[in-house]
Amino acid sequence: MPFKQLGLSTDILRAISDQGYVNPTPIQKQAIPIIIEGQDVMGGAQTGTGKTAGFTLPMLQRLERHANTSMSPAKHPIRALILVPTRELALQVYESVKIYSKYLPLRSTVIYGGVNIDTQIDILRSGVEILVATPGRLLDHLQQKNLVLSKVEILILDEADRMLDMGFLPDIKQITQSLPDHRQNLMFSATFSEEIRKLANKILKQPVVIEVAKQNSVSELITHIVHPVESARKQELLIWLITQQNLKQVLVFTRTKQGADRLTQQLARQGISTAAIHGDRNQLQRTQALESFKQGSIQVLVATEVAARGLDIEELTHVINFELPNNPEDYVHRIGRTGRAGAKGYAISLVSQEESHLLIDIEKLLKTKIRIEEIKAFEQKSTAQPISGKETIPAKKPRNNTPPQNKRPNNYIKQNGSASRFNKEETFRNVRHPKSAEDPLFTQPYVSTAKIDIATRQADISGKAESINASRSSSKPVPALFSPRVMNKQK
Ligand code: AMP
Repeated sequence: MPFKQLGLSTDILRAISDQGYVNPTPIQKQAIPIIIEGQDVMGGAQTGTGKTAGFTLPMLQRLERHANTSMSPAKHPIRALILVPTRELALQVYESVKIYSKYLPLRSTVIYGGVNIDTQIDILRSGVEILVATPGRLLDHLQQKNLVLSKVEILILDEADRMLDMGFLPDIKQITQSLPDHRQNLMFSATFSEEIRKLANKILKQPVVIEVAKQNSVSELITHIVHPVESARKQELLIWLITQQNLKQVLVFTRTKQGADRLTQQLARQGISTAAIHGDRNQLQRTQALESFKQGSIQVLVATEVAARGLDIEELTHVINFELPNNPEDYVHRIGRTGRAGAKGYAISLVSQEESHLLIDIEKLLKTKIRIEEIKAFEQKSTAQPISGKETIPAKKPRNNTPPQNKRPNNYIKQNGSASRFNKEETFRNVRHPKSAEDPLFTQPYVSTAKIDIATRQADISGKAESINASRSSSKPVPALFSPRVMNKQK
């Protein structure tokens, strides 16, 4: 189904075409017509699914009637408010808004903390229709009366789960009190926790629930690998991996800010161009680090969880977990930075014995075992305990000198061979690379739970025409708490 069947204006379609997008992604197909109709939406979607355009495009369509070139600030009240958890995501969403609205006389800006407030005040006073904001800084502006939200028609909460994780709930509640009661609400979240449901019940009115990816699912295009290693040798192994595989662009996750800084210094001492991105870096440092990384002038970006959430880095092939996250869901978010928009990716984790319980939790969440590859030069001492409580990495294992199919060196892998899950005769050569997706952009990454999504994909694959109405009349089961209206309504 092409974009032009979704009800978007020519100016918006032109901007989409400039981006080179050919077909809408599953979430775009479902969300765009519903949002254009003015319904509230609860979207279950992770970054990488095209959700930003999924809400931005129909938002622009709804605001198009207000587009004007008047110089008067009064003619440009805030009509749409997009709340996001982090500054990086704010900048990314703002970039998308600018790109998709480039042929429309609608003004937009972005506000976030950690930077001078005065410049933001000047822009706000000149009038903007679309405001992308982090909750804390928005509240500062509200309290200083630098803006009014009484004309807001659309409220969008992006990455709502992360906003709650970051403690923004009181801020969100306070902000919504400044909004008119009559408005459209859109909420996007990668997970549906109890807190998210409560927030959805408070904010959304009879929302249509759209879910394109199964909760906590990960792209099938990502190959997961665990390298067992002693904690003390992780840094050495990381450097070895980067240099041996000649990795040009790697996003490395550490658990703490201090750990990120330490690792950055250690890598830099080895001549690897590296920058850190975490909460203690000021905005300028974070933006510069991200930009240099995106442009390729920095080889390694060391990040903590929060800072990297929502980052969209084109064609990022490698995410390395220097340490596993405490929360298994964070593993899903971390590795979601790769394997995006149809591209293949590697999620590599350096796992010490102390972290084996974290690995088990991640595997439980993913409902799959992650392949373990011990690297000969970094093999653990024979006295070592097994990496997982249940499974044993043998002290002596047959060596695999078979030339691997990718760039890794011949002696790269120590075969895992014992009466354990490491004995699946999984040689590196046997790593299954998923077949290229039928829909080259987005088909494979999604694990849809909804009948509608499967139907949509099948229609796409077989090239059959598909009507939005037919999709919308699906009897897709949705969480009862959201009491959806439209998805169950037969048209
Ligand atoms: P998001 O999930 O919003 O972070 O988007 C992930 C990436 O997909 C971004 O780089 C978008 O530019 C890209 N994208 C969004 N929609 C489409 C589309 N219909 N076709 C191709 N790429 C897209």
